[in-house]
Amino acid sequence: MFGRSLQSSFRAVIVMFCVIVCGVVSVYGKAQPENRFGVQVVGADPELRERTQQIITEAHETLKSRSGLGFNDTIDVVYVMKGQTFDSIAGGHFPDWGIGVAITEKNLIALRSPRDYPIGGQLANILRHELAHLHLELILGGHRPPRWVHEGYAQQFAHEWNFGDDWKVARAVFTGSTIPLSDINGVNSFQGARAELAYIQSYLAMGHFLQKYGWDGLMLLARTMQDGDNWDAAFMAATGADYAAYQEEFAEYLSERFNWASFLGDTILFWIFAALIFVALYIWKRRRSKRRLADWKRQEDLEDVLYAPFDIQRPQRPGGSEHDDSSPGR
Ligand SMILES: [Zn+2]
Repeated sequence: MFGRSLQSSFRAVIVMFCVIVCGVVSVYGKAQPENRFGVQVVGADPELRERTQQIITEAHETLKSRSGLGFNDTIDVVYVMKGQTFDSIAGGHFPDWGIGVAITEKNLIALRSPRDYPIGGQLANILRHELAHLHLELILGGHRPPRWVHEGYAQQFAHEWNFGDDWKVARAVFTGSTIPLSDINGVNSFQGARAELAYIQSYLAMGHFLQKYGWDGLMLLARTMQDGDNWDAAFMAATGADYAAYQEEFAEYLSERFNWASFLGDTILFWIFAALIFVALYIWKRRRSKRRLADWKRQEDLEDVLYAPFDIQRPQRPGGSEHDDSSPGR
């Protein structure tokens, strides 16, 4: 039931687009039961099941060591194959570009099966991404942050910065089409390039937050929300900054970091591009020189044939002495 256009769209866009279905109970301030963490995989052959368990277990260890908070329940991973729908698992409204879903109230990750969809190389990133959603919900205790926080956290954990993403942001800055952070809440209704840009900006916004306030700032913000503050109040308490001002500051950061002048000045893409231009120019110039030498050689051979019977020297062409000394075959 999934058409060719859907498969090709996987190649065209970031494959991490996902849905979060939230609802977990608070765990901060409560004694955690003994570790009952485990991974249960449904819809996979033994090889895929083992690989999935390994990826989830390693990612969980990393998240736990960073935050001091891990899961004490089983994480269920369900692979959705062709002929199955996400909606039957996630409860509806799964966007057709979606590739995975994190259902926090069930500690469940559902994703398209790499056996049926071209996502094999991205499997580890997708699992890390979805597990990070579950984990953020765990540390926030079911409180809802803005969507960019969820997607930014998940992408930062899965290292989802793709080749060419900075060009996409630069183009959006140049055309004035960047997305305000508050609008990213509606990402599930976005399509194509706008959805992709929303994810890229979420990644950058979380990176900017972590650079400014660090992991401790994020954990403090989570604990403050656990105490009952809403996002804006918790943000102020944890960072000392007004959230509205932070959004403006981030928009300014995007404009400054990704304007064409500064962007071209320090991005590695520019230097790769410049190196390619240099190599192309060198090859073009070298070929042109070879063509000229070959033309001269042909001309001289012809002149030799024309003048030899008369036993006269052929005329020198302007500047020809230098050339004659270095012409091939002479
Ligand atoms: Zn996501």
